[in-house]
Amino acid sequence: MEGLVMRSTGSFYDVMTADGQRYNCRVRGKIRLEGIKETNPVAVGDRVEFDLLNDIGNITAILPRENHILRKSVKKKGHSHVLAANIDQAMLVVTLAFPRTSLGFIDRFLVSAESFRIPQVIVFNKKDLLDNDSLEEVLALMRLYQGIGVTCFSVSAKRSDLDELKRTLHNKTTLVAGHSGVGKSTLLNSISPEIKQTTGDVSSFTEKGTHTTTFAEMFRIDDTTYVIDTPGVKELGLVDMTEQEISDYLPEMRELRLDCKFGARCIHINEPGCRIKEAVTNGEIALSRYESYLSMVADDDNRK
Ligand code: GDP
Repeated sequence: MEGLVMRSTGSFYDVMTADGQRYNCRVRGKIRLEGIKETNPVAVGDRVEFDLLNDIGNITAILPRENHILRKSVKKKGHSHVLAANIDQAMLVVTLAFPRTSLGFIDRFLVSAESFRIPQVIVFNKKDLLDNDSLEEVLALMRLYQGIGVTCFSVSAKRSDLDELKRTLHNKTTLVAGHSGVGKSTLLNSISPEIKQTTGDVSSFTEKGTHTTTFAEMFRIDDTTYVIDTPGVKELGLVDMTEQEISDYLPEMRELRLDCKFGARCIHINEPGCRIKEAVTNGEIALSRYESYLSMVADDDNRK
């Protein structure tokens, strides 16, 4: 039989077949998938083959992936595991209200998705709670991010007309992430009644969010539309990147790199007359993006 992995607990997998039937599966033997060394490589979004015995499925093969997204292991430093596979786009829910999402976090998420060649969407939520200055700030950020190819929305998860956002999700599998408290569950509930997520009281969260479920889960909105809800995205990761790779995953830096007289080895920090530093000075590249770049480069955990 063949199906789609909707949920994983690490040892059991919820697999849905084309007729909508769900099966509880596990992995008894070894599964081999080219290029992946993990002992337990099955991820949400994988298409798998399985045999059924006494109502329990045994996964025997993972069908070739279009892509996958890795996440750093919380328990084992230096390790990572596949968070989800076969994703069409990655959507980050953020807010400039409470708990305010930092630009550094947004940029890390975008760089990470870009490194896996996954298109990105940002939803600026809690529009109803913003004063005029913050609304202006959202518009400016939307211009910045749209300018580098990211699809952006400004919404109120509870009140907005979400039709345009729904059209962006339609016919695709979308990985959804965001810090606890930004309104991800509320938004998913508003998008589709199929998705039953518990929403929390924002006062019970610390700034960065405390409540964590551990595993990604896929929800079916219709035959061709799925969302993957991912908990605890802090570790979502810049896994092993050089300075050059990080700058290549910032599209506006990538675009100018060939113009730089220092060529591919330039890391845009101390090189005098570097084209990218010039672009930051004259405003072609936003200072916030350059600062995010510097912070990612400075963070040893990211690095090879
Ligand atoms: P999650 O942790 O990201 O899934 O956040 P929740 O969906 O649980 O929302 C956290 C809190 O923010 C809840 O109290 C929601 O009612 C509230 N909330 C979510 N979206 C909005 C919004 O657009 N406007 C307002 N005012 N509150 C919101």
